[in-house]
Amino acid sequence: MEIKYFAFLKYLIRFNRQVYLDHNATTPVSSHVRSKMDRALKDHYGNPSSFYGIGRKSAELLDEAHQHVANAIHVDLSEIHFTACATESNNAVLKSVAAHFYPKKKKIVSTPIEHPSVMNTLAYLETQGVIVEYCSVDDKGRVRLAELEKLIDDDTFLVCCMSANNETGVIQDLKAVTKIARKHGALVLTDCVQALGKIPIDLHAWDVDYASFSAHKLYGPKGIGALYIKQGSPFTPLLHGGHQESGLRAGTESMHNIIGFGAACQDVDKLLAHSKQVAALKQQLIQQLKEIKPDCVINSPETESECLPNTLSVTFPGVENAGLMGMLDFRGIAVSAGSACSTGEDTPSHVLKAVGLSDQAARETIRFSLGRDTSASDIHYVTRVIRDYIEGRISFVNMLAPAQLNENILFDEKTFILDVRPGDDRKKFKGLPNSHQVNPLRVENYLKQLPRDKNILVYCPGGGLSMMISYYLKSKGFKKITNLRGGLDSWRKRRSDLYEKYAGQNVTILEPDKVN
Ligand code: PLP
Repeated sequence: MEIKYFAFLKYLIRFNRQVYLDHNATTPVSSHVRSKMDRALKDHYGNPSSFYGIGRKSAELLDEAHQHVANAIHVDLSEIHFTACATESNNAVLKSVAAHFYPKKKKIVSTPIEHPSVMNTLAYLETQGVIVEYCSVDDKGRVRLAELEKLIDDDTFLVCCMSANNETGVIQDLKAVTKIARKHGALVLTDCVQALGKIPIDLHAWDVDYASFSAHKLYGPKGIGALYIKQGSPFTPLLHGGHQESGLRAGTESMHNIIGFGAACQDVDKLLAHSKQVAALKQQLIQQLKEIKPDCVINSPETESECLPNTLSVTFPGVENAGLMGMLDFRGIAVSAGSACSTGEDTPSHVLKAVGLSDQAARETIRFSLGRDTSASDIHYVTRVIRDYIEGRISFVNMLAPAQLNENILFDEKTFILDVRPGDDRKKFKGLPNSHQVNPLRVENYLKQLPRDKNILVYCPGGGLSMMISYYLKSKGFKKITNLRGGLDSWRKRRSDLYEKYAGQNVTILEPDKVN
């Protein structure tokens, strides 16, 4: 009896663990930040623009928060402006600087590994006539400075280069980038979202004009960002309205979030002091992964000074990341394949492609991003699950090769076909006959409608997203789950005869379950 009890306890400890290794996507809010925010919500609700006591108190706290952020990056408090998020900060700078210079000067030079909040804003500016050129990066994601030097010319008004990348962790030599930009009088914007709290930042020493930040990457709240504007650098507000943030960002200040951001920045020194331990755990992870799969490829720079201490991008040849991530999720482990923003899409990450990975290698890549509470036993647990998966000791989802998906299966009464494709793919291609469409990002809202006595055949465009959802359904007790390998794309190509004949027939759109 006792032995059984301990075995059960061991099972619970082993398989009911939560390990969060996705700190580059977001971080938990620290207790220090939470307590400051609680206090702000409870006591400091005054509008900082009001002149009576409770308003003046908020204004004082607002100044303090500016000071805490400014201290963390070694700038003057007047150079910090709160925004709603780093996406807003990046948008505001790119659009404002373009409006200031264009059409006198026409060119922005950037890199192909920027965050979508930069990439998509640049794409928009291109539609307005701005010329955008991208300086290539090497296989570790380092900007090729000699090429940058050639691209920047007297027509260039802005150079935009992130200080550290969210997917590979590569750190750029910002001082060198700025030096080149200055030769032609170009301004510099750097996205510091991933750098803050992980590596020392000294914006005056880097000599950049603009920098963006986000609280939720350093144990602060979501929905609050900051923008550094060097004194004298041109800037026109994105939002017009009140005089808040020195007239550069209108809108009543989100005081609890701002106070939370300030508190998070007060902890930056502690985070930096702890980064050696985080880096040591990352080394432990690398070593164990190399033992499990000697042919795994480390995409992150292995030189300490060139990579964020917490970030590791690894390709596991022959192992689709969707299946591995699904299994890790099933075991309570959160990691990411590309950036969080691209979850739900089956397209390989633009960052991994820019560092030279093939589409297939990108689909075999996982990003681990450790945090300040990650422990050695977390790493041990994660690598044990990965070992079991890679060595074939655990596999809960059946795979169906596209060529095997024939009329017998398509019209089998005991098979329930679940379409988890994103909406844009549904617009482009008709679905499998007899399939049931659900919102892939809200599968939990359809569980009551999925039959437990049938084989559920899950499919998406490329076979990745459906794999993750298959594991999710397994975790919810669905016994017979099959994933269509290569997704609808492969099946359409392999069985174009069946696609032409049956696609789109008898498709049901499921409504989300009613909440009681
Ligand atoms: N820049 C980088 C490098 C990021 O990693 C992120 C978030 O993932 C952002 C910008 C966007 O930040 P926010 O969520 O505050 O808009």
